[in-house]
Amino acid sequence: MFLVPMVDVVFHGTRGSFPVHSPYHFKYGGHTSCVSIITRKHWLILDAGTGMIDAGSIAQQHKFQMCHLFLTHLHLDHIVGLPAFSPLWSTNFTLNIYSCAVNPAQQISTLISPPYFPVHWKDIPATRNLTTFNAGETLTTDQGYVDTITLSHPGGGCGYRLRFEDYKICYITDTDLPKPLRMKLIKFVQGCDLLIFDSTYCDSEYGPVADFGHSTWQMACDLAKEANVKRLALFHHAPNHTDDFIDALEIAAKKVFPRAFAARCGQTLTLPE
Ligand SMILES: [Zn+2]
Ligand SMILES: [Zn+2]
Repeated sequence: MFLVPMVDVVFHGTRGSFPVHSPYHFKYGGHTSCVSIITRKHWLILDAGTGMIDAGSIAQQHKFQMCHLFLTHLHLDHIVGLPAFSPLWSTNFTLNIYSCAVNPAQQISTLISPPYFPVHWKDIPATRNLTTFNAGETLTTDQGYVDTITLSHPGGGCGYRLRFEDYKICYITDTDLPKPLRMKLIKFVQGCDLLIFDSTYCDSEYGPVADFGHSTWQMACDLAKEANVKRLALFHHAPNHTDDFIDALEIAAKKVFPRAFAARCGQTLTLPE
């Protein structure tokens, strides 16, 4: 009998820009960008925002001694959780980091060292390997292929398409959508099993923030529809969007694209469900 391999997608952090905590942010959570993808044998992480604090428990649960971390860019909401990732404090763990940022080794070791952090990055016990690449390249890992694409964000950014276990999962966050990029993205995410997409704003809020390098949930739904994706996770929620606000936004989004949902911190999605 042929068994369809299951892949778990765990949303550790779905908030954008800044972490938040209040009685109005319980349901969708306040941790910033961090998503785990767990296959039969492998563990991949997308971004290292404050959600990375919760990602550490996956290592214990699944007895993983290695994972691949793909960074979209080095803004704080995507890397500040790195030193709070508990497996980094074990000599038996290996973290393979992938980044297309300019000189990421220097940037990361500056941030995770005194005076910003008490321990020097070079003294962290786990083995860390850094692979740099140019956005547009395809990366090969032991679990499959990872295609990359340049996004439109202040300081640059990179989107990912993970291809493994017969699934395609696309992670496109921190980008606006100039027409040429939108055309490229429609092809890039075409027919994927899951599209995780920047939905920081609503169209009604967009005018004054149009050059901040983010998208709206309406842009995400229109793109998902045109690219015929199977599921759409609305992601990178603005810090001022309360649970009630995101609930209403999700209802409106489902009217445009019924397979859309607002991603919540702590949520696990099992493919192929
Ligand atoms: Zn961000
Ligand atoms: Zn950013």
